[in-house]
Amino acid sequence: MAMGGTRPRRLPRNVIFETPGSVSLPELEQRLQELWTKEGTFDASLARRRGRPRFNLYEAPPTANGSPATHHVAARAVKDLFWRYKTMAGWYAPRRAGWDTHGLPIELAVEREMGITARSQIEDFGIEAFNRRCRELVDQSIAAWKSFSDRMGYWLDYRDRFLTCSPWYMESVWWAVRRLFDQGDVYRAFRLEPYCPRCATTLSSHELELGGERRRPIARARLLISLKNDPSVRLLTSIRELWMLPAEAAIGVDAQATYLKVRWRGQVVVLLPDAVRLLDGPVEPVARLSGADLVHLEYLPPFPEPSADRRFLTVAVRQPGETGFVHLAPAHDQEAFDVCREQGIELRRALDSNGRFGPDSGDLAGRFVHGVNELVVAELKRQHSLHSVLAERKASPICWRCETPTIRLG
Ligand SMILES: [Zn+2]
Repeated sequence: MAMGGTRPRRLPRNVIFETPGSVSLPELEQRLQELWTKEGTFDASLARRRGRPRFNLYEAPPTANGSPATHHVAARAVKDLFWRYKTMAGWYAPRRAGWDTHGLPIELAVEREMGITARSQIEDFGIEAFNRRCRELVDQSIAAWKSFSDRMGYWLDYRDRFLTCSPWYMESVWWAVRRLFDQGDVYRAFRLEPYCPRCATTLSSHELELGGERRRPIARARLLISLKNDPSVRLLTSIRELWMLPAEAAIGVDAQATYLKVRWRGQVVVLLPDAVRLLDGPVEPVARLSGADLVHLEYLPPFPEPSADRRFLTVAVRQPGETGFVHLAPAHDQEAFDVCREQGIELRRALDSNGRFGPDSGDLAGRFVHGVNELVVAELKRQHSLHSVLAERKASPICWRCETPTIRLG
């Protein structure tokens, strides 16, 4: 390809070719790009292949929440390779530009820019004004992406670009969902999902990996729970994490095991024989009980529901924990979820979508899920239901967007 207009100088006999003393590679690239623009090289490469077999490689739309960076060069260069190769091999390979302009990445970028840390600040600022700022950021980012892509020689057709926030794009998605619905392929069901209570959104398994894990304090606890028809009889129970207690739906018991009834500190306690060591001071055995006889007993939950319709019962499980009785919070725990679904026990939700406890959660009402352990402990002490708290540090996944520890939510 001729780059200059001057006639070659006649070289001495023993010189094959001459190289300039210094070459500016960026300058060379820019001159080449100017030539491509002037001659319409990209359009010509498409026009010459029109009518040939079509090669579709969709531009997975980059998120328009900021400026592209060096690592995007590598990804774009690899993608570009396929389009160029296919074009050279005789295929018609159109390339349509597009951007993912929706959702949290954009909102979080604007929140960072404006120093916003709570949802209420967005509401004070005005949702419409906030959305406008998000759109402005999208426009700025797209301009940066275009000049970046041009500069690295990445050819895209911007005339028919798509933005996920454009009405026709959203309507296309609705149309597709509608078709699935009409075909009977959409059904309603509950399942547990990783959830960020700060961002108020579920996370895909990919997103969960993105965030990684962080060690954080977890409070397990052992409780003494009274039976409804005889509150002097108490089950020694355990719960995986204290904050799940307002969402408990049942207590699991091992129907195959043998339990002990003992007298301890003036009360009757039922537990697995191995768990007797957890009771300090004198313990007086009273009777042996079959686990099967301990299924479907009604008990008094520490966080009852205001309507008396719901009965809290013990149910058979395979893993009843160290004491023989385990609180099941199916809205937050996969094993509990499976057990409750099998046995037709209704899910019980204590948290709203922003990770705050609902009005039925006593002193916890309105509090964020992380940081309520002391309140739960105080409530259990008030009810004389707390046996012990076991504080430990456990690695748990955090949200890749905001680093808040994630929970499971059903
Ligand atoms: Zn988050």
